[in-house]
Amino acid sequence: MADYYAILGVKKGASKAEIKKAFRTKAKQHHPDKGGDEAKFKEINNAYEVLGDDQKRAHYDQFGSAGPQAGFGGGGFGGGFGGAQGGFSAQDFGGFEDVFSNFFGGGQSRQKQSASRGSDLEVEIHLTFEEAVKGTTKTFSSRNYEPCDKCDAQGGSGKKKCDMCHGKGSMAQKFQTPFGTVQQNVACSQCHGTGQAFEKICRKCTGEGRVEKKTKIEVKIPAGIEHGTTLRVRGKGDAGKNGASRGDLFVHVGVSDSSEFDRRGLDLFTVLKISVFEAILGGTFSVKTFWGPVDLNVPENTRDGQMLRIKGKGVQSSGRVGDHIVKIEYLMPKKITDKMREVLKGLK
Ligand SMILES: [Zn+2]
Ligand SMILES: [Zn+2]
Repeated sequence: MADYYAILGVKKGASKAEIKKAFRTKAKQHHPDKGGDEAKFKEINNAYEVLGDDQKRAHYDQFGSAGPQAGFGGGGFGGGFGGAQGGFSAQDFGGFEDVFSNFFGGGQSRQKQSASRGSDLEVEIHLTFEEAVKGTTKTFSSRNYEPCDKCDAQGGSGKKKCDMCHGKGSMAQKFQTPFGTVQQNVACSQCHGTGQAFEKICRKCTGEGRVEKKTKIEVKIPAGIEHGTTLRVRGKGDAGKNGASRGDLFVHVGVSDSSEFDRRGLDLFTVLKISVFEAILGGTFSVKTFWGPVDLNVPENTRDGQMLRIKGKGVQSSGRVGDHIVKIEYLMPKKITDKMREVLKGLK
């Protein structure tokens, strides 16, 4: 059996968050759409499918296999142990799709999760240069889980203990393995580990306390945001089951380049082309900054390529302010007139 911890590059005792983070990083890095190796990518997904699931992980830690669903169910051992070289079965593939859609907002086939907190959602948005500098509010529609309004997110009325597990939330289950019979506690299939049931189950949400809905999500983008930033909006992900807390929303922000300004951090750059004579004599030139025109004093004898700074006219972001920086570029005269030649000779 492959070492899933090594594949994700985490320690054996890694927390759920560490595993999730490692998976995210690796999956992005090896995504076939971005030129990654597909076999490696599947390996990463398989590893996460097991380590990202409490039950499968516990089983894997104990027996070195993914648990009843993968190793012991249906076809029995042949598939789980002997046939490991056989590559990926349809079931493996389904699992990998599930894990993936949870991360990238697909969400058609959600896995049943033992944790009742809602899933995190991810979206990508694209901003114009101006929107990014000034800040904006973006609204988009998404299909995700919202609390059920019929039962007030409870899932039903008349709370009682689950009949099947008598309120414990878990049940002992026996598995046959080559090493003998093994007993393990698994989440109750009736109440999914909550230990609770209702006298009357809500019909609208069939007891989940949440329903899938098309919703509008509004995200405030702070002024000065940079290309490649990910914003985390707490509590804007999927609603949890039976009133449990919501997941978070991760917004990946892309920003278009400007045709006028070059941005580096909070500073904005433009080029000012002036004649070599203007540069020698110096003078005042109007410069277009993001915030409007500003008179720039070009001192006498300014060199070609010199940078002149206009303080505070760059990008503003959470209390910090950048500058507008002007690079001077010499324009050589197209033609030397007789008069110019004479004056220059005199100077020489
Ligand atoms: Zn139960
Ligand atoms: Zn309901």
